Amino acid sequence: MANEQFDVTIIGSGPGGYVAAIRAGQLGLKAAIVEKDNRLGGTCTLRGCIPTKQMLMSAHIYEQMQHAADFGVQASGIQLAFADVQKRKDKVVLKNSKGIEYLMKKNKVTVFKGTGKLVPGKVEITDAEGKKQTIDTKNIIIATGSVVRPIPGFETDGQHVVNSDHILELKDVPKSLIVMGAGAVGVEFASVYSRFGAETTIVELLPRIVPLEDEEVSKELERSFRKRGIKSQVDTKLEKLEKTETGVRVTGKTSKGEAVSLEAEMLLVAVGRMPYTQGLGLEGTKIKVEKGFILVDEFQQTAEKGVYAIGDVVPTPLLAHLASKEGIVAVEHLAGKKDVRPINLRLVPNCTYCDPEVASVGLTETKAKEQGYDVKVGRFPFSASGKARILGEEEGFVKIVSEKKYDEILGVHIIGPHATELIAEACVAMQLESTADELGRTMHAHPTISEAVMEAAEGVHDLAVHI
Ligand SMILES: Cc1cc2nc3c(=O)[nH]c(=O)nc-3n(C[C@H](O)[C@H](O)[C@H](O)COP(=O)(O)OP(=O)(O)OC[C@H]3O[C@@H](n4cnc5c(N)ncnc54)[C@H](O)[C@@H]3O)c2cc1C
Repeated sequence: MANEQFDVTIIGSGPGGYVAAIRAGQLGLKAAIVEKDNRLGGTCTLRGCIPTKQMLMSAHIYEQMQHAADFGVQASGIQLAFADVQKRKDKVVLKNSKGIEYLMKKNKVTVFKGTGKLVPGKVEITDAEGKKQTIDTKNIIIATGSVVRPIPGFETDGQHVVNSDHILELKDVPKSLIVMGAGAVGVEFASVYSRFGAETTIVELLPRIVPLEDEEVSKELERSFRKRGIKSQVDTKLEKLEKTETGVRVTGKTSKGEAVSLEAEMLLVAVGRMPYTQGLGLEGTKIKVEKGFILVDEFQQTAEKGVYAIGDVVPTPLLAHLASKEGIVAVEHLAGKKDVRPINLRLVPNCTYCDPEVASVGLTETKAKEQGYDVKVGRFPFSASGKARILGEEEGFVKIVSEKKYDEILGVHIIGPHATELIAEACVAMQLESTADELGRTMHAHPTISEAVMEAAEGVHDLAVHI
């Protein structure tokens, strides 16, 4: 490797870094990727998106089988084999990580295993044995992601107090679980473990669960969770954690000052992650950092020439698909492509894979009003969808927020079956600046769940057909 110069070196192989590396290879750049973990894929592949969705899938099948008789299928002796759930998850994670290794080879990306550090015009790599090597590179992309944020007073021990990394590796299902934090990670694990039999309570500081979603969606999810036996304790600040003989006790107060005390075998602390830049050598550069995040311009450039940053380490929503798109913008910009388009942060889909699923893009009704839009809303409940009845999944709705003057779609909010897939249609419509009328006129196959999107769009003009 001596004297070899790379066009771009990417530090971190999560969905930001590995996608950037692939695009660099596709554009004919000589690319290198540095990863300190012994497997490629980052949080998303190893400890995030992929393993959680695999566990949700097992939980979904378990529940479906328990209700098989509703569909005229008799099934008996249905049992959860939790060790096999874990085995399946590990297998799928490994397959995805291996897939990334294959893609690195296919796109002629050189992989360095070790910890990367910035030195002027170069990247220094220290491997697991402490051996150092330095590579020359014209550009650097920092894609070092994020890690779990420790919460003072709620330190995890991996036994009775766990974080999202620990809870993916449990050997047994806890009898009871308190989930601190009702964002995507919290409600997804609440869904998984309550289906596996844990008596589950979610505690949220803000007045509603999934607090970033449209208010109607939060309400519907809370109702749905209640039906499934998941309790929500909102508007509550947990202040103290104590260990008990059988697990934990947490105490706190609601915003009205009412005392709250909860006990369970396990507490999942699912509040927050923080950008990871430890040991990167940012001190010796012009790179600006605010609250731990690296500041970048619309092409992901930092203040240091030739150094870009993408993904969870920059102050945009912590999402895998956004990290990947930021990686593509960075690589295309450094490659000198003329048609690079900065990311429109209004068009980033948010998906939560709990049951029922939640997905959204664009402005909520409240946000649209706050921004001064004259808002018109269309809704369609899945209880009126033929396909939802076939699936036996009639909870939830599609809600479309548009503005009156031009009929432009400002936001789409879905709770219900396949919400996380349906949202792609809304993203395309909004990317193309579609009106609600155009979306409503677009023919959707029958019977499909996607008809609900069409009907909600028609509903903006009070023309939904099936309600
Ligand atoms: C439980 C959970 C579930 C999630 N589910 C979803 C989901 O369903 N959908 C979604 O969009 N997002 C989800 N996320 C968020 C998603 O995982 C992150 O947004 C995404 O992984 C960020 O990608 P990234 O490339 O920026 O960083 P990461 O994926 O964090 O990867 C960073 C990589 O950099 C490496 N690294 C760090 N420092 C160095 C160094 N100095 N040298 C070499 N290597 C280094 C790390 O080892 C790591 O492999 C989830 C997160 C969690 C925790």
